Amino acid sequence: MNKYFRYPVEYVGISQRYKTGKHLGLDFGWNSEYLPMKIFAASEGIVKIADYGKAIGWYVVIFHGTKDGKDIYTQYKHLESRPMVKPGDSVTMTTQIGIMGATGTECDGRHLHFDYIPIPKDKPFDQSYRINPENYLYAYSDIVIGKKGQDGVAINHVDMTVSEGCKIKVEEPKYTTTYTVLKGDTLYKIAKSYGMTLDDLLKMNPDIKNPNLIYPGQIIYISSSEKTTYTVSKGDTLSKIANRFGTTVSKLVELNNIKNPNLIYPGQVIKLK
Ligand SMILES: [Zn+2]
Repeated sequence: MNKYFRYPVEYVGISQRYKTGKHLGLDFGWNSEYLPMKIFAASEGIVKIADYGKAIGWYVVIFHGTKDGKDIYTQYKHLESRPMVKPGDSVTMTTQIGIMGATGTECDGRHLHFDYIPIPKDKPFDQSYRINPENYLYAYSDIVIGKKGQDGVAINHVDMTVSEGCKIKVEEPKYTTTYTVLKGDTLYKIAKSYGMTLDDLLKMNPDIKNPNLIYPGQIIYISSSEKTTYTVSKGDTLSKIANRFGTTVSKLVELNNIKNPNLIYPGQVIKLK
């Protein structure tokens, strides 16, 4: 049944990792700009529990079938309100199960605590089998967020500052842009033009199985955080460039001593940091 597990929330970072004996799940942070943060099932399965617990607040447990002699469960804690699914419901990765919240006495910051729980077949559900979810999840480079004023901007999951306990300190996400492959492009050429290595580019595009096989029109995910300068192309505007590299027009104007922000020309080299 279950092949893949996907990050259960979009455009947020990890605010606390799994730590043996200390924190047996993975916390996803919150960026107020995107409220309400939808939570999805990490993979297809059947809802086993949708309930309220004093410590963990509103929560959902999903059963994903049996694999290698283990019954696989995922758990989602501190939901904002009563879950949007009920026991017995079938879910897929596109099923919203709730909204990120801060319910329960265990935590005092809005976030999702996520657990991955493989339990020896036919044993009862037991929290103590929780293991590090990160070994079983893949990031969702396949989700593109159309943010107002930013064409095709995707925001990959990013590490946020790990905070004390469950209090969440959310940092600005790193912006990622997309590039549409043109005739004659190679992955190496694309990586180079964005100041990335081919390896880094492939890491951001796990769907590409054969690096020598890309096609015009294909969308490639690009990290824009490494680049320090950018050469203006025809049709660029400062705001487009600022969006692409996760900065602001006023920062670019200041960095580059630009007199008139509406006047840039192809071939001009713009400092990004
Ligand atoms: Zn947690």
